[in-house]
Amino acid sequence: MKKHNFSAGPSVLAREVIENTAKAVLDFNGSGLSIMEVSHRGKDFQAVMDEAVALFKEVLNIPEGYQVLFLGGGASLQFAMVPYNLLGKKAAYLETGVWAKKAIKEAKQFGEVEVIGSSADKNFSYIPKGWTIPADADYFHITTNNTIYGTEIFEDFDSPVPLVADMSSDIFSRPLDVSKYAIIYGGAQKNLGPAGVTFVIVREDILGKVDRTIPTMLNYKTHIDNGSMFNTPPCLPVYTCMETLRWLKKLGGLEVMQKMNLEKAQLLYDEIDRNSMFVGTAEKESRSIMNICFVFKPEYEELQAEFLSFTGKKGMSGLKGHRSVGGFRASTYNALARESVVALVEAMQEFEKMHAK
Ligand SMILES: *Cc1c(COP(=O)(O)O)cnc(C)c1O
Repeated sequence: MKKHNFSAGPSVLAREVIENTAKAVLDFNGSGLSIMEVSHRGKDFQAVMDEAVALFKEVLNIPEGYQVLFLGGGASLQFAMVPYNLLGKKAAYLETGVWAKKAIKEAKQFGEVEVIGSSADKNFSYIPKGWTIPADADYFHITTNNTIYGTEIFEDFDSPVPLVADMSSDIFSRPLDVSKYAIIYGGAQKNLGPAGVTFVIVREDILGKVDRTIPTMLNYKTHIDNGSMFNTPPCLPVYTCMETLRWLKKLGGLEVMQKMNLEKAQLLYDEIDRNSMFVGTAEKESRSIMNICFVFKPEYEELQAEFLSFTGKKGMSGLKGHRSVGGFRASTYNALARESVVALVEAMQEFEKMHAK
């Protein structure tokens, strides 16, 4: 049975991306060798890296002056690499969830951190407003999509200091004004590729301003100077990212993607709001179009396991909410088909007919 994969990450990839990756695993470019067996210094793999970087820049419309890197270590390593490379005295952070908190914790090892806004008071169910970015900060860090809580920042902020964004779970979900950002980073495993590779978009002119010595592997400059090949890159994950970018481009790019994502999210949020048994956990104006979190109303809470098994029997996977929110989370990344959302909406309606008091 075809599965509807709502997993938050690693998550759904387009079928043709998986098929093309499988082909390259068995026989890369008709070479008789697997992509897993060839040198990253060979021309065949170099062509993959070059195309991945070129498509990344094209699809996101990245202006001149920026580099695109494919690194190891996950978004979690970027929590430290960003302050290592940028934090001289002070940085400003927006605290919008667990990932933002982890980024803040790392930054504190390198200097002063000013948390200028937080939604911790209401379990990160909204994006804080009314904050001001201190002009003396070395940079301002945001998490654009809060994967666990289902809240999202849709605006490319004007910032008087370099803007740094963790976009692990919403990169490529909508058109972006990259020129507003100094660094954008994320793990590939939410909306781009498999686990094992991290993308970093970095504006070159912000580097080289801190006094400390930076270990070679943690220095962005190292990876820029070596085209992401200072050490052996995650070759297979980079290949899959390239395939996803080909697929994105073929479908029409980010405007088309955003339209499809908005439509999927609307379908599901409308049902959550209509259905007498469920309630959304994120405040309406902060609702993410990538991770949709909802719970049972208190009188139906005991049906949680039953709903998961009910949807499981219909081929739906990955719907269990994160433990810090509970309930359910439907991740509706680019590669999730509209029909999967429709299947979930129908299951919610059927469940309501069976169980609503
Ligand atoms: C998943 C996630 C991370 C962690 O990514 P790793 O690649 O596992 O380190 C960080 N930030 C956000 C917003 C995420 O969704």
